[in-house]
Order: sequence, then structure tokens, then C-alpha cells
Amino acid sequence: MILRDPVCGMPIDSEKVKLKAEVWGKLYFFCSENCMQSFLKGPRIAYFSMEIGIKNEIPTYSGGLGVLAGDTIYSAADLRLPLIAVTLVSRMGYVKQKITPDGEQLESPDEWNPLDFLKLLPSIASVQIEGRDVKIQAWLYEHQSPTGGVVPVFFLDTDLDENAQEDREITNYLYGGDDEYRLKQEIVLGIGGTRILKLLGFNVRKYHMNEGHSSLLTLELLKENTANAEKVRDLCVFTTHTPVEAGFDKFSYSLVQSLLGNDFPLDGFTQYGGEEKLNMTLLALNLSEFVNGVSSEHMEYSKRLFPGYYLRAITNGVHSYRWTCQYFRELYDKHIPGWANEPELLVRVSEIPEEEVWDAHVKAKGALMNFIKERNGIEMDTNVLTIGFARRSTEYKRATLIFSDIARLREINNLGKLQLIFSGKAHPRDTEGKVLIKQIYEYMSQLKNDVKIAYLENYDMDIGAKLTSGVDVWLNTPKPPLEASGTSGMKAAHNGVINFSVLDGWWAEGCIEGVTGWSIGPSPAESISEQERRRREIEDLYNKLKYLIIPSFYKERDEWITLMKNSVAKVAYYFNSYRMMLRYITSAYLI
Ligand SMILES: *Cc1c(COP(=O)(O)O)cnc(C)c1O
Repeated sequence: MILRDPVCGMPIDSEKVKLKAEVWGKLYFFCSENCMQSFLKGPRIAYFSMEIGIKNEIPTYSGGLGVLAGDTIYSAADLRLPLIAVTLVSRMGYVKQKITPDGEQLESPDEWNPLDFLKLLPSIASVQIEGRDVKIQAWLYEHQSPTGGVVPVFFLDTDLDENAQEDREITNYLYGGDDEYRLKQEIVLGIGGTRILKLLGFNVRKYHMNEGHSSLLTLELLKENTANAEKVRDLCVFTTHTPVEAGFDKFSYSLVQSLLGNDFPLDGFTQYGGEEKLNMTLLALNLSEFVNGVSSEHMEYSKRLFPGYYLRAITNGVHSYRWTCQYFRELYDKHIPGWANEPELLVRVSEIPEEEVWDAHVKAKGALMNFIKERNGIEMDTNVLTIGFARRSTEYKRATLIFSDIARLREINNLGKLQLIFSGKAHPRDTEGKVLIKQIYEYMSQLKNDVKIAYLENYDMDIGAKLTSGVDVWLNTPKPPLEASGTSGMKAAHNGVINFSVLDGWWAEGCIEGVTGWSIGPSPAESISEQERRRREIEDLYNKLKYLIIPSFYKERDEWITLMKNSVAKVAYYFNSYRMMLRYITSAYLI
């Protein structure tokens, strides 16, 4: 059997190999002593994330943040980067969604069994919570890339017999419970995670905090480094994903004190985490050498929130192979071999014959239509212009903007038929998010004789992949500046699906009007009132549908396919997680 060295990627014949090492029950083969030592003892990047979407059957993610973490791991493995990842096991997952016929969201736990996919490791760390010793074990998931690279992911778990019942439940619910529950989770993630990596013998060169949930790790590092903040800063990288102050996790110092007791001196907290409350974003910001936002827009906006800090931008990306559907993979394999490990090559898509691009698209669209028929019993038509919208159902994402003027939508639909497909879960406590789902169901019934509309229950990564490859147009209408980046539109671009979106987050960088897709509403730089912005967004939404999108789709198929190709060659070639990881390596990890 031919295997690959996990460090350099060199192919190795397992019959002849001399250098091998067993790590957690798995054998690794090496081309040289150097590679072996580097694998066993070399410096690592430790990537901490409250949620990770690594596999659809492991429901430990709620949305874009987790999917991004998954794509980061996929890319790091492909690039054979020495990265390890830490998250919580979240045994009850995020939330499973059902929707009643009148649009009511029903929720249940999304329980999964770690034993099905992960290996339990023997090391046990502990943290002090309310004076109790809380034991933490870790489950291992190894993400293996075809290039030989491997990224271990550690899922932290407090469900041990030795722990008190309430502590056993800390790692059950992703984003469940109150402030106290959340802070306990963040203690386990940040402090517990750092300790377990130490027990496992890792030599960590950088701690990368994906959002502020893990920023308590900085306090553990302060402790390890005799309160030398310079040293800690040198070890830390922080990526912020939230563009509004209200989105930051904050905890009262009385809660912090009651949970952590005297294990960590309070002046450390107030010095770096804020005077009034412990602000997890501020804590990470003050103790990280490298801090970045996830798009240029987001960086500019965050600078205003944090004057005096040096913030950089590394725009998010998606893992090209993971998010490209079977039909487009085949198309790229045929015409652009090597694209999967070098997505820059997608610029060459312009050379692919138009019929082949269209044919791949129609197949992907057909697969989606079959899926919808199976799931929802709705028969959609592959010849009809189909618009997709799927994301967490929360107010700022404005899923109902396209229904702002029903009469106009009907009129446009008479000009050229439309089909709409929605999907998305609301957080159990997000009342407004649930109302949005209900409203979509109401519009569905109002429009039932005109426009076919489907709402796919229980949005997950599989549905995400089907939708972002099977529709014609990917719609996104967040309220600026709240979409820090957004990534589903990048998945769409990998499949020749055209973006039609508000100029917020990544699309402010990706949109070349009429070339890579279309914008909705004015540039974020334009300072106008909220009402005026909304009015212009709605105008653009309907006018561009009526005068540009429908005529081009139905009457100018060649022009349409050029746009599809541009979506790949001018969007996907750049907005992928390889480019993103290379930026993290050169700007953050290697400094
Ligand atoms: C890609 C993806 C997201 C993120 O999409 P956004 O456009 O950033 O909202 C969220 N959830 C799932 C299941 C996804 O696949």
C-alpha cells in the first residue's frame, strides 16, 4: 500500500518503510527522521473554536463560524500544516428543527454518540468551577487529507462519572443555557483545552482563538508565563467575527468570581477584560499579537469599535473541494486537473465549453429538485429560474426582504417564472428568528398559485451543499454591517451559481457589478438613513430581478453562462480557504 508522510507528503511504500510511529493507535510512516521528529515534537498551531462543523453527522456547529472552523481544518490538513483543533463535544448538538404546516418551529436535541466517530483518549485534565474539581476528557477525531496531512480535533467532554451531575452536563448543549452555563463552557474550552493539550504533550507555538469564546485561554497562559503579557501576546492570534458590541460575550465579575474563585486573580481579568464586566472579545484583543476581522468591511467596522488597536483583515474562504458538487468536480477534473489542491487554477474555467458548464449545472439542479420532491413533496421545474436563500434564521439576515412587495413579486413572476427555496434554523431563544420562518410560510400560502416556494427543514451542511450547487441565483440580504463575512455565497460561486447580494461582508470585495453577479442596495460606505438604505435595497432587488436577471436567464443563455463562469473564475478562485490559510500562515502563524 502507498501511504504518505504526514509532514512532507512524500509517497511511501508501506512494505519497505523503516520509520514509523504509532500515535493514539494509528501508525504513521515517515520518509526521514526529520519528518518524524517534526510530527512527534514539532511546534503546533492550536485552533480553538466553540463550534466545529467537520462532518454532517457530528452536529457540533450552529452556522458559519463552525463551518469555517471545519473548512480551516480541511485546508490545514491538505496543506500539511501542523494544526490541532479544540472544541466541545456538545453531545446534544445544537438543535434539530421541525416545522409545522403553519410555520411553527419545533425543536429537539440533536443527540449524537461520540463513540460512532471518535476515539476516547486516556488523558484527563481538570479545572476548578465553584470550588469543585471538574474533570475533562478528550475525544479524538483525525481529519485525514489525501495529501498525507492530518489534523487531530479534540472534543472536550465533562461527562465523567467522577463529576457532579451538573458538571457532567457542561458540554451537552451548544449555545444552550444561561450566562452561567456559557461561562462554565468557556472555562472548559479555554482553560481546560489548554491544559489538555499540555497533558497530551503538544508543543504549542500559537493559540488561535476563533471568536472570543475561548479567550480564557489567555489567562491560563498568563499563569504559565508568570504574568508576562508580552509572552502571552506572542503566543496568541485572535479572529473576531462579530461586528457589534452587543454580540460579544460578557460576564459579570460576580459570576466570574463565583465560578472561578481564587484560581485566577481578578485583577488579571479587569486589566485585560474590561473594568465593568468581563468582555471576552476585549480579553482576546488585549492579549493577542495578531488580531483580524473576517473581511475588509468587517475590519473597518471593528476598528471603530476598538480604536487604538491594530486590526487586520483576512477574508474568509470555503474549502473548494468540499463545497463543489459532484458534477462540477467532474467538470473541473476533466478540464483543470489539479484545481482541488490549487483553487487558483479555477481562473481557467473560462476555457471550458459552455454546454458542459450548463450541463453540469442542470444535473446539480435536478439533484436538488429531486431532493425537494422527496423531502417536501413539491415538484419544482429545472427550467425555471430558481433562487436560494439559506442561513441561520435571525433578524439581521432579513430572509423576508424579497417579500416586501408581494404585488411586485407577482408581477415579476409573470414576466419570467421564479422558484424560491429557503432553509434555516432559528436559535431556540430567538423569537424574531422564529417569526421570520412563520412569515415565510404565510407568504408561501399567499403565493401558492403563482410562485413555487419550498422551505427545507433542519438546515445542515448537506442541505447547504445541495442548495448552493442546485439553484441558479444565491440571494443574501443581511442588514449592513452585520454580516461580518458570510460564506455560503462562496460555496455557490464554486458551483457556478450567481450571487445576488447586499454589499456587506465578503460580497463588498467579491462583487463586480454585472460581471461576477449583482449587488443589492448602496455601498456600505454611503452614509444614508436606515429607511433610505432599505428603500434602495428593495428597489434594486425587484428592478434587477425584472430588468437584468430574468431577461438574461430566459433570453440570453450565453450571457448567463458567462456570468456563471465568472462566478467560478473571478470569485471561487479567490474566496476559498486555501488562500485564507496561506494568509494566516504568513501573517499570523509565522510571526
Ligand atoms: C455555509 C453554511 C453556513 C454559513 O453561511 P452564511 O452565508 O455565512 O450564513 C451556515 N450554515 C450552514 C449549514 C452552512 O453550510
